[in-house]
Amino acid sequence: MTKSAPAHVAVVISDRFVDHVTPPGHPERPERAETMQVIANEWRDRGGRIVAPRAATHEELARVHAAAHIDRIAATAGQAVALDADTCTSPDSYDVARLAAGAALTATEWAMGAPADRVGYSFARPPGHHAERHKAMGFCLFNNVAVAAAHALTLGVERVAIVDYDVHHGNGTQEIFYDDPRVLYVSTHQYPYYPGTGAAGEVGVGAGAGFTLNVPLDAGATDGDYELVFQAAIVPILNRFDPQLLFISAGFDADARDPLAGMRMSTAGFVNLTRMLHDVAVAHARGRLVLVAEGGYHLQALAQGLGATLDVVAAGRHEGRPLQAPAGAGLRPRADDEPHAATSRSEQALEGVRAAQQPFWGAI
Ligand SMILES: [Zn+2]
Repeated sequence: MTKSAPAHVAVVISDRFVDHVTPPGHPERPERAETMQVIANEWRDRGGRIVAPRAATHEELARVHAAAHIDRIAATAGQAVALDADTCTSPDSYDVARLAAGAALTATEWAMGAPADRVGYSFARPPGHHAERHKAMGFCLFNNVAVAAAHALTLGVERVAIVDYDVHHGNGTQEIFYDDPRVLYVSTHQYPYYPGTGAAGEVGVGAGAGFTLNVPLDAGATDGDYELVFQAAIVPILNRFDPQLLFISAGFDADARDPLAGMRMSTAGFVNLTRMLHDVAVAHARGRLVLVAEGGYHLQALAQGLGATLDVVAAGRHEGRPLQAPAGAGLRPRADDEPHAATSRSEQALEGVRAAQQPFWGAI
């Protein structure tokens, strides 16, 4: 993290993101926002652009959430309310959640500005991808990336792809766009696992059939497994979809160190996936890419994931380079010696994905 920061990348962050307070011992804790702030400060110290978010308006939230859901969250203002077994509010949560959705909007508006080749990165909490049209769940109050994707569709973009490499399935994002052919939702996730959705056969409905791509992976998947499913299925389908704007739901809880999940990824693996997706954005979307922070509950893994993926999108175009993790640059080596090679998990996943997606995308 010594190179000076390029001007085409903006980090969107607010010091308000610590003010959504969860009960003691809750993994989605204010320290996650402090970690984001550390990485943002390093970015600013290198001359990087930091942008303050605006709050999402009721109208912007209502593009993807029922009015009754927005009202229910608004009614928690000033109170600590348990919305379900693991999703709760504190007195400031409604304001902070509107700001978290707004950070994704601000990052999107940055990315769609002129000239092209712009990247916006929202460093926000609470996360969003479990929040459905009608309900909060899984630590999420409003679906930040969905609010942003819906906003992009009002700004003249016709095809949006959202790639979600958080270890959990983004049931909320899937549900919101399940019948919408303008939004290709792609998820890799541990399966079976919370929230229980995300089987390969969940492909969308009606006009949206074929515009949901689920890649469920057994626990223990490695950097190599993720790389293989990206190369064999996700990138080819993204290329055929030809997105005009690309979003990444950037969760870092598939890291081997994460206390919630059971995958074996490393920071270098997230860098590799992000590089592939940035290449897709360059090839199809004039380099316009929006990253929206999701989960990641080991603070050092979160810090390294955010910092290294920010570095890789800041480094610019990558096409033609080998799809390998860089041998250092900003990354600390893993403490243990876990193998990163692909396992049978990725081949198994691809079998199901090919069967489910072939009717829509042809042979992959
Ligand atoms: Zn997650």
